[in-house]
Amino acid sequence: MSPGFRAVSRSAPFAMALLLTVPALACAAGTTDDAARALHERIIVLDSHLDTPMMFDDPAWNILERHPPGDGTSQVDLPRMLEGGLDGGMWAIYTPQRGRTLEHMRTARDHGLKRLLQIHRLVAAHPDRFELARSPEDARRIHAAGRRVVFISMENAAPLALDPSLLQFYFDQGLRMLGLVHTSNNDFADSSNTPPEWNGLSPAGRALVAEANRLGIVIDQSHAADAVFDQLLEISKAPIVLSHSSSDEVYEHMRNIDDARLRRLAARGGLIQVNAYGAYLKNTQAAGRATFEDYMQHVLHIIKVAGYEHVGFGADWDGGGGVQGLEDVSLLPKITARLLQEGYTEAQIAAMWGGNLLRVVGEAQRVAAEIAAAAAPQG
Ligand SMILES: [Zn+2]
Repeated sequence: MSPGFRAVSRSAPFAMALLLTVPALACAAGTTDDAARALHERIIVLDSHLDTPMMFDDPAWNILERHPPGDGTSQVDLPRMLEGGLDGGMWAIYTPQRGRTLEHMRTARDHGLKRLLQIHRLVAAHPDRFELARSPEDARRIHAAGRRVVFISMENAAPLALDPSLLQFYFDQGLRMLGLVHTSNNDFADSSNTPPEWNGLSPAGRALVAEANRLGIVIDQSHAADAVFDQLLEISKAPIVLSHSSSDEVYEHMRNIDDARLRRLAARGGLIQVNAYGAYLKNTQAAGRATFEDYMQHVLHIIKVAGYEHVGFGADWDGGGGVQGLEDVSLLPKITARLLQEGYTEAQIAAMWGGNLLRVVGEAQRVAAEIAAAAAPQG
């Protein structure tokens, strides 16, 4: 916990803005929390993997109410978003991977459409608080208006297995990021957690990537096998994102990524959003619960290897993420404070908290426009 944050006023005094123009390390001891809080409030703070839409099945759960941390319901709600300065992010349509029969495909299709509707209902029910973002420009405008940014993403493309052409419909309904697979192989790609079936992407997976590029949907590699990563870097015309992944170098795990791939990701303009899922951060069975420091070790290492332009945050809130000292989104300013302590500038921290994610969303849309222009009849 960081009681300092809770005590600090949410409005940033103008003097604080001036203070931030000098290097953070020059701040007198005791002012760092104030400075961090003020900075955190000024910038766009986005998380690229919010599993909170899973809560929308529960009629008793209300996003406008504050839920105490550790009560087992959720880690994200509007009061805690405001408290933690979380301006929004990618709200995931997550579908568990069941079997792959026709019946399973139909069930997954219907599940995906239900979640999509529920996310739209959230926005429709609270138009003064939440707004659907279809572009980086939308996100900046929504943030400036003081509303929460709702980008829609998909975790596991199983809802598209029956009819991949549904991707166009999802795009029209706001889908801007697509994760191909979850914890077992599916019709599109191999998972990081299971022995290979396709040695990377299946033919249907390659076609889906091409269609995502054509539409302007960012491809999310998290949960996919390393071979999928390698093939995505080859075939995707737009930079890819790892929406919630951590570092193999800090703690080797099948869900994490090695430094060589991080460097290649960065070279291609891609982005890794660091996951706070405890069991991926360290050997929790041997060493106990992961802590805020364990998380920051992954964050700081990944920044060092990939460069701050290629790093952000996807903590897996409501999907198993959260560690001791970073139990829910109300505590996010701790990350900003820590980055300031490490000497990162406001511009760098702003890039990591949202600028980079918006850049990659915009890049996918730029590539889609290029593809459309190239396909248009000449003359
Ligand atoms: Zn996940």
